[in-house]
Amino acid sequence: MKEKVVTGITATGKLTLGNYIGAIKNMIKMQNEYDMYIFVADLHALTTYIDPKILKENKKNILALYLACGLDANKVTLFYQSDISAHSELNWLITTITNTGELSRMTQFKDKSQNIVKQENGTEMIPTGLFVYPALMAADIILYNPKYVPVGIDQKQHLELCQKLVKRMNKKYNLDFNEPRPIIPQLGAKIKSLQNPENKMSKSDKNENASIYLLDKPEVAYKKIQKAITDSENKIYISEDKPGVLNLLTIYASLKNINLEESERYFKDKDYKELKEEVGSVVKEFLEQLQEKYNKVLNSIDEIAKNGANKAREIANQNLLKIQKAFGIK
Ligand code: ATP
Ligand code: MG
Repeated sequence: MKEKVVTGITATGKLTLGNYIGAIKNMIKMQNEYDMYIFVADLHALTTYIDPKILKENKKNILALYLACGLDANKVTLFYQSDISAHSELNWLITTITNTGELSRMTQFKDKSQNIVKQENGTEMIPTGLFVYPALMAADIILYNPKYVPVGIDQKQHLELCQKLVKRMNKKYNLDFNEPRPIIPQLGAKIKSLQNPENKMSKSDKNENASIYLLDKPEVAYKKIQKAITDSENKIYISEDKPGVLNLLTIYASLKNINLEESERYFKDKDYKELKEEVGSVVKEFLEQLQEKYNKVLNSIDEIAKNGANKAREIANQNLLKIQKAFGIK
């Protein structure tokens, strides 16, 4: 039997090149070998305010982009998180074994709650949902009892908490769920913002020039790469002290399916202008091909999500019942 794998992407915005390189590319590599449950995390998107119309659009875009990027609905199970009510039900049970101290140590909570305070001009408006996000994420995972969870580096802390919670739940309630292990890509686990290469590229970044969106017009994406922040040295080599250059070398390597050292060798005698032109062209070509496929799959996503939910629901409900019985409510 194939090992189970679970992963998802939050419907907070339009998918970026970071989501592709750090997450989706890995899923595609794994789809032949594993029994994969891949969802669109629409419940998680509600943890900070989002316009309902935009959320609806984001959901569909992400499902279609999963397919356009190369996930095959005959091999993996694709679904919307909110179609399976077990996610919300298990979430509650998981919050009862999660300490508030553990949640307040999560760096994503600290970062995201700080942004909210800034937006609200000093008034504190931090939703409880944002605080308990990692408990819902643990529920998302536990419902399918996977061995692995492919994620980018930013999700490592949440996954470690999930492992701890599974261990605690198993011990307290005499259960035997797997402690899921992260699979983090060797290359591109943290693609950086084009405008502030110290930070990661994020789909919820307000600065449109900071991210390449997978549905950006290819020429727009090309221009964003030309505007990417680098440094003043004009020499190309791998160094953590040159995050802007390292980011462009990483994007090039990932899209060309070569390693970082090969990418460095290729650009060794070139200058920043040539680097940006070449990376821009590769990104442009990648988006052109991707968007052609995207337009073709758009009609089929409702059917695919429905079938995926039917399959996912069966497994999720079985595991939920097992946990409900162990907790004493069934
Ligand atoms: P948000 O800003 O709303 O948190 P996000 O771009 O961080 O959005 P998530 O939905 O949180 O996206 O993450 C989806 C997946 O993409 C996760 O596996 C995450 O680790 C990965 N990921 C997100 N951003 C990057 C990035 N810049 N580089 C590599 N992987 C990334
Ligand atoms: Mg994120």
